[in-house]
Amino acid sequence: MEPQRSPLLEVRGNIQLKRPPVKAPSRLPLPGTRFKRGPDQMEDALEPEKKRTRGLDTVTKIATSRPRAPALTTVPQTQGQTTAPKVPKKTGPRCSTAVATALKNQKPGPAAPAQKPGAAAPMLGGRKPTKRPAWDLKGQLCDLNAELKCCRERTQTLDQENQQLQDQLREAQQQAKSLGAECRTLEGELARAQAQAEQGQQELGNLRARVLELEEQLGTQQGLVQELQKEQLGLQEERRGLAARLEEQERRLQASEAALSGSQAEVASLRQEATTQAALLVEQGERLHGLEMERRRLHNQLQELKGNIRVFCRVRPVLPGEPTPPPGFLLFPSGPGGPSDPPTRLSLSRSDERRGTLSGAPAPPTRHDFSFDRVFPPGSGQDEVFEEIAMLVQSALDGYPVCIFAYGQTGSGKTFTMEGGPGGDPQVEGLIPRALRHLFSVAQELGSQGWTYSFVASYVEIYNETVRDLLATGTRKGQGGECEIRRAGPGSEELTVTNARYVPVSCEKEVEALLHLAHQNRAVARTAQNERSSRSHSVFQLQISGEHAGRGLQCGAPLSLVDLAGSERLDPGLTLGPGERERLRETQAINSSLSTLGLVIMALSNKESHVPYRNSKLTYLLQNSLGGSAKMLMFVNISPLEENVSESLNSLRFASKVNQCVIGTAQANRK
Ligand code: ADP
Ligand code: MG
Repeated sequence: MEPQRSPLLEVRGNIQLKRPPVKAPSRLPLPGTRFKRGPDQMEDALEPEKKRTRGLDTVTKIATSRPRAPALTTVPQTQGQTTAPKVPKKTGPRCSTAVATALKNQKPGPAAPAQKPGAAAPMLGGRKPTKRPAWDLKGQLCDLNAELKCCRERTQTLDQENQQLQDQLREAQQQAKSLGAECRTLEGELARAQAQAEQGQQELGNLRARVLELEEQLGTQQGLVQELQKEQLGLQEERRGLAARLEEQERRLQASEAALSGSQAEVASLRQEATTQAALLVEQGERLHGLEMERRRLHNQLQELKGNIRVFCRVRPVLPGEPTPPPGFLLFPSGPGGPSDPPTRLSLSRSDERRGTLSGAPAPPTRHDFSFDRVFPPGSGQDEVFEEIAMLVQSALDGYPVCIFAYGQTGSGKTFTMEGGPGGDPQVEGLIPRALRHLFSVAQELGSQGWTYSFVASYVEIYNETVRDLLATGTRKGQGGECEIRRAGPGSEELTVTNARYVPVSCEKEVEALLHLAHQNRAVARTAQNERSSRSHSVFQLQISGEHAGRGLQCGAPLSLVDLAGSERLDPGLTLGPGERERLRETQAINSSLSTLGLVIMALSNKESHVPYRNSKLTYLLQNSLGGSAKMLMFVNISPLEENVSESLNSLRFASKVNQCVIGTAQANRK
């Protein structure tokens, strides 16, 4: 392949072609140099010759030692080497012709070698110079004249030549001028061409860059094209797969359509069946409701059979640091069904030092046996205890008032049973949080049968026959502003505590928050009056309201959970100081309210016409949760320590009395 020619080279080529062949610089002497000599100058040049001719003795010297045409030696540069020695032989037209020829050829020739001094004098007029004898002065003069003539001729010729040369020079100058102009034009052209060439180069560079760029793009595009081709292949494959699937789907569709028409007939028959089922469902719903009501009735009957008043005895464990009771101090004899039966009996041994035998030996300890609905020995867990009362919680949801008490001396475990142990451990959670959790979950289950439940909680304490709100917040927190127990409205059976908060609750967390608040309120009060919490009754009440909107049914009942004040009595032998007097008053108030509770239960059991509810704030507040259709459960909490034996016996005796009571047939509070 022929390499691409650069445009610049192209231009250069053109220029070379256009340019006329360069003439060799003229070797002609310029005007004003040696050839500018006129005839006078030539005369001057010849003057020494003339001078020399004056003295005859010097003529020979001149003729022999001096070359005759030194002036012409400047010319030979144009004449050429070979002609130079011949010039002196023939002057005149030959000389001018030589010059003209030299001008015409304009070939630079090597300079004529300088004539060696002492060379022979040139021949004149083609004659062989003959040496004239010294005496032939005439002859010599004749020679000189001839020489002069020849010189003159030569001068003339040279003038002519000079003239010619000047003409030629002018012509050459003219030519040079025009060449200069041409040169400038060409230089301009050259500059333009160079600029054009540069531009061309630049463009070429740009084009090369562009070409590279395009090549790169082409590479990318080709890669893309390959990728697309690959993709296309994949898509084609996919299309084939889809087409196959489509075919398959169409086949299936056809089969489905066939099945559909079969199914439509089936649907029609199923619809028929569904209508029958719906009617059956309504019937079932009716039956279910009937069964639920029956369940409630039977559940209640069961509770009644168990007793509307039930007493559970719970003995707390010996705490670390407490003295171990003597063996046999507390016994839990098994029931008639053997050890597998849950214990219901408890024996307490008491050694009475005042009694003695005739022999003086200490009397054997007296054994006191008690029997309750259930006995929980130390170590019984909270969950075990709750299991027994879960049924009562169900009764509360069914619309029966339920009241659970914790009775016993201070430190016997009442608060532990009702609220739970310290530290928020779920294992030691008390009855209140467990009962409420159970309530919420059972209420939710009953929701599927059309029942909706709402719960409102209150928590008060009764200290020295004054009622204080344990749920008070803000400025009333811990202040225990006066609260009064009043009827909710004229002619209403419902009781309410004035100034107390009634908080709607719907989940465990809310109940937890309330218990925490009550705990804080008690703690504030404790700083003011020492250990007041054990000297007061804490009453947690939950008003349960249920509604079956579909059947227009409503039910409602309070669930009361009461942590009673310590049942211990003041030591009668104690001397009364000012502190003790206050304590005595407290104790009297507690004892009074606890005995009133006993009396109320007795009166209810004996179906007396007057039940002394109003004798204490506690019984007054709980009057709707006791008697009638209410279900009552009393925990008698017992300390396992021997030192508490007296109080334990008192508690057990009180509980036994309560246990003997039977309150009339309970009735659900239906509206
Ligand atoms: P009360 O309320 O009757 O004065 P507490 O419930 O405060 O008595 O109980 C007194 C102490 O005994 C508390 O430290 C409590 O944690 C602990 N206690 C009570 N019952 C139990 C039990 N069943 N298991 C473990 N510790 C108990
Ligand atoms: Mg307590």
